[in-house]
This record gives sequence, C-alpha cells and structure tokens, in this order.
Amino acid sequence: MSAAVNTTSPSRKFQFVGGDLCLDFTNTVGGKRGLSTREYLNSYADFVSWSRQAGLLDDSTADALLRSAARQTDESVAALRRALVLRESIYRIFAALASDELPQTSDLDHLNTELSTYLGRLRVVSSKKGFNWTWKTETDDDLEQPLGPIARSAGELLTSPHLLEHVRQCGGDRCGWLFVDATKNHSRRWCVMSECGNVAKVRRFRMKNRRARSGSSASRRKARRVKSTTSVKAGGLM
Ligand SMILES: [Zn+2]
Repeated sequence: MSAAVNTTSPSRKFQFVGGDLCLDFTNTVGGKRGLSTREYLNSYADFVSWSRQAGLLDDSTADALLRSAARQTDESVAALRRALVLRESIYRIFAALASDELPQTSDLDHLNTELSTYLGRLRVVSSKKGFNWTWKTETDDDLEQPLGPIARSAGELLTSPHLLEHVRQCGGDRCGWLFVDATKNHSRRWCVMSECGNVAKVRRFRMKNRRARSGSSASRRKARRVKSTTSVKAGGLM
C-alpha cells in the first residue's frame, strides 16, 4: 500500500435509511435540492467510503481502488463525476415518482445508458450453495465498479410496483431524502424520525405555544377592553 494513500479516510459515517441502495445513494446530499444542499461526496475517496459502507466493496477492493485513484487523479475525478451525474438522474426520477409525476425522459435515458454499460458485466457464478450473481470488473482497479450495482438497483426498484408505490420524499422543510416507506400502515413521513421528525415536532410545539400565547394575550386585551367599557358604563351610571 502506498504511504501517500490514507485508506481509512474519510471518516464520515453515511446514513442508510432509504431502504434501497439507489435511494441511499441519492441521500448522499444533505439539505433540499433546489434550495440549499450539502454535498457529502466531495472526493473519489468519499465515494469509495460510501460504497464500502453500502457493502458494495470489501475492504481490500476499497483499498485497491483508493491506491488506484491516487495514481490516476484525472480518472478518479471522472469516475466521481459520472457517479454524481447518475446519482442526480436517479434522484430526479424517484423524486418525481414520489410526487406522483412522471420522470423526465432524459433521466430515464441516462439511467438506461448506464444500465447498458454496466449490466453487461453481470455474471452468474457457481458457489457451494448454488449460483450467485457477481460483477465482472473491467480491471481489478476499475474505478467505476460501484456504479453497476447502483444502476441495477434503480432499474429493479422502478420495475417493482409493490415497492415503487411506497417511494416517498422526506417531509422535512430542509430535506429531500428519499426512502421506501416499509411501515405497516405506510405512514412514514420522515427520513429519520429523530432528525427531520423531531425538527417538525419542535416547530409544531413552538407554533402551538406561540398561538396559545397570542391567544391568551388577545383574551387579556379583550378582558381589559371589557373592563374599561364596564367602568365607563358604571361611571356613566353614577
Ligand atoms: Zn429528512
């Protein structure tokens, strides 16, 4: 291993709350697209880190990719760019569907182009327990290798009506994360209840308090008005 490559970085721990690989990949952007976002995949190493945490790469392959990326800076930048372009197409497709809209043809075309590139690398291999799908990589250090499973995951989700009808977008004001709502009564509204759900809960609580405060000060003002009218009236009688 090259001493110049820090294979343990970055230390970011990604969240996997989408319930589907391709949606988790779209959730590598914080905030709300179109408003304010935070990019979590700022380098090829970030992409490898996410892929490793997603279970797409084992440690030795991840380390090999990082070493390879350090040798091929331009190629690793291009691989990251390709990953981000695919990610945004996948995001737009499922965000549209979550809003009961049809995805843009250009996004579907892009996904299909990537599928045609990567699905040709799928192979069936025999194992002790039978047969498994596996991915044949162009080379051992194929920088784009996590993109095959991601594109396939998007294709499979799109063709799984029982899952697709439950794709939702987080209701958080500052969040656009996507997830498959697998709750029994399909009532999930938040990507992470303890984050976006709590923010909404706190906001509702504050609004309720504010309304209660403005309600009680209005009643106090009304009571004062009534009191002063009564005094005037009482004064008038005297
Ligand atoms: Zn959220």
